[in-house]
Amino acid sequence: MTRDLEIDCDELVEIVTDYLEGALDADARRRFTEHLEVCTDCDAYVDQMRETVRLTGTLTEDDLRPDMRDKLLAAFRGWEAGTPRLP
Ligand SMILES: [Zn+2]
Repeated sequence: MTRDLEIDCDELVEIVTDYLEGALDADARRRFTEHLEVCTDCDAYVDQMRETVRLTGTLTEDDLRPDMRDKLLAAFRGWEAGTPRLP
């Protein structure tokens, strides 16, 4: 695992739909929210996803296409490297 987090950014992105649908168990949900508290990138990402759900009323796998996910993760890594970049 990376840093002192129980889940890393990749894992968080994997389970974000489950989180937004309330499908995570209590333990996974705790790890998820703990990650958000220390990772502003993922916090912003989850806010974005939440907004998507609000606008569309649904969240499908299509909203998390692998290419889109890779772009987001690349952007996260850019921020971590100290080169801010908009997704
Ligand atoms: Zn993160």
